[in-house]
Order: sequence, then C-alpha cells, then structure tokens
Amino acid sequence: MSRLDQLRRAMTRAGIDALWVSDPANVRALSGFTSPKDGKVLVTADGATLYTDARYTVQAQEESGLPQVIARPPETYSHAAGMLGGGRIGFEADSLTVAGLQELQKHWSAATLVPVHGLIQELRAIKSQEEIGAIRAAQDLADRTFEEVRPLIRAGVRELDVALEIELRLRWAGAEAAFETIVASGVRGAMPHGSASAKVIEDGDLVTVDMGARLGGYNSDMTRTVAVGTPSAEMRRVYGAVLEAEETAIRAVRPGLRAADLDRVARDVLAGHGLAEAFSHSLGHGVGLEVHEAPGLRGVSEDVLQPGMIITIEPGAYLPGVGGVRIEDLLLVTEDGYEILSHAPKESV
Ligand code: ZN
Ligand code: ZN
Repeated sequence: MSRLDQLRRAMTRAGIDALWVSDPANVRALSGFTSPKDGKVLVTADGATLYTDARYTVQAQEESGLPQVIARPPETYSHAAGMLGGGRIGFEADSLTVAGLQELQKHWSAATLVPVHGLIQELRAIKSQEEIGAIRAAQDLADRTFEEVRPLIRAGVRELDVALEIELRLRWAGAEAAFETIVASGVRGAMPHGSASAKVIEDGDLVTVDMGARLGGYNSDMTRTVAVGTPSAEMRRVYGAVLEAEETAIRAVRPGLRAADLDRVARDVLAGHGLAEAFSHSLGHGVGLEVHEAPGLRGVSEDVLQPGMIITIEPGAYLPGVGGVRIEDLLLVTEDGYEILSHAPKESV
C-alpha cells in the first residue's frame, strides 16, 4: 500500500476528512518536493495537492509526485477551501503556528479544524527500500569521513578544527552536516551536546565526536568516543561500561520489542556499574528525513520496534567536572533482528 493510502486509513481512524500538512519533513515525504519549508500538502479522501509559490514552479514540476498549485496565501487557502467545502480538517498541531491556525480558521470557516499528532511521522518510522538506501549512503559517507579525520584527533588540536574538517569533507562529497558536529574533549565530554569549542585537545582526554551526514535529504547519526594518550583509570572504566551497555542493547534489538524495554536494557547495564545517574538522556531515536524522528527509544515511549525502522542506540555517561562518554550506532530493524549501518571502528581505550 502506498504511503498516501496508509495515511488515508490513519485519517479515517482519526476521524478527519482531510489533512493540511505543514510539517516540512512530512510535506517532503508525501510529495518528494525538496524545498518543503515553502510547501504545504492538502490530502483529501480522493486527492492530494502540493501548494508552493512561483519561485518553485519548475522545481515542483520536476520533483513532485503530486499535482501542484502555484499560489501564495491567501490564494492558497481559498483554493484549498474550494477543494474542501466543510467537514473535519486535520492540522498538524506539532508544527502549525498559532498564527497559521488563525489563518486557516479565517479562510475555512465552514470546516471544523481538528488537531492531529504524528499521523505521518508514524508512517515515516517505517522506511521504504529507497529510504533505507539513502540513509545507508549517508552513513557510509559519515563512516569514511570519520576514519579520514580520526588521525587529526590528537593533543594540540582544537575541537573546532576537528569539527570543521568533518564538515568540510561532507560538503566536498556533496553532502552536509546533518546537525552541528559535536566534539567534546576532556571535562567538556560531560556535556552531552557539547558543540565543538576552541578548547585544545590534551593528552589523556577522551574525545566524543557525534556526527551525521545529510545526503539527498536523508540523515545519518553516529557517535564515537576516542582516547588521546592514556585517559584516567576512572574514565577508562566508564568507557567500558558505556560500551557494554551499548553492545548489550544492540544485541537485544528485534521486531516486537517495546522501545521502553530496550531503553531499560542499557540503563540496567549502566546501573550495574554505578552509572545510573550519569546516563541522563534517552537511549535513542529514529533517523530519516529528520535527525530525530519516530520511534522514540525512551522509558515513557509506547513505540514498538518494527522491521524497516532505522534507529540509533546511544547510551552515555556524563560526570560533571570529570568527563563523559557516548557511543552511538545506527541500526536497521530487520525481520529477524537488526543490521548495524554504522561501521566506523569502536576503539578500545
Ligand atoms: Zn548523534
Ligand atoms: Zn542520535
């Protein structure tokens, strides 16, 4: 069944006659249009239309699998109103602004506007073969880039030099950084999202590098923590514990497993090493058109792993004033288990 047909089923279950799609990644997923911040999609029971403006007439024709209407607000809304009539129209409560909702209310006064959450995101969690290929290609590039830059991570080099080298190489390869590259060394490793700074990497530092490539619109995500010289016995112990948690969680991945239970697997390992408090974020997330998307791998998640999901497993331990470790791999959930998509070596420290 096509994603659009799956969506119509979900719309029926949600009790809506049509859906106004404003989330850029959702617009792209439905239409193929690669400038989705400047597009919207209207999905009805028997049609789907891409709305964008005259800057994109040619591009939309080339890219969009949906019929296009070139218009700017308020014409956009009046055209859509002509297709809708009354009925219950869903809008994406997680992305539409209050001002955007007021615009819809003004122009679609005959309709009942209904907030919906995650309808398309749920469908996007299961990747098509083409999407799996695109994410695999992004991760392969990230693996090559990390291995090329790895020799640069040594005493005397600034964190931001490492990050810049990674991002330049991604650009040269026709990709870009999926997110601001994290390079956090020594005590800065205690910040889970320590953006690369002017700090000079020192002998004995652990260095956490969290990087992703965005290629053809699809993202990858991977973290390695590497040693420069010989870290303290305490940080080597922490590294071993995080690696054990990460590999134990990976081995548990299979379709049908609750994401919350997988989160628990890693958390239990770290707790066994006295590091329960130090693991201060969720275990992982889905990756696709967005770096963070469904499913959510955390204690309160209701998601269940299914074949075709692409997820990260990324436990960490962060000791303020001392340092930190995170190790993250990218995995495809398969019919009988998993395939690891990230191949950059995990070093022993
Ligand atoms: Zn990451
Ligand atoms: Zn991640």
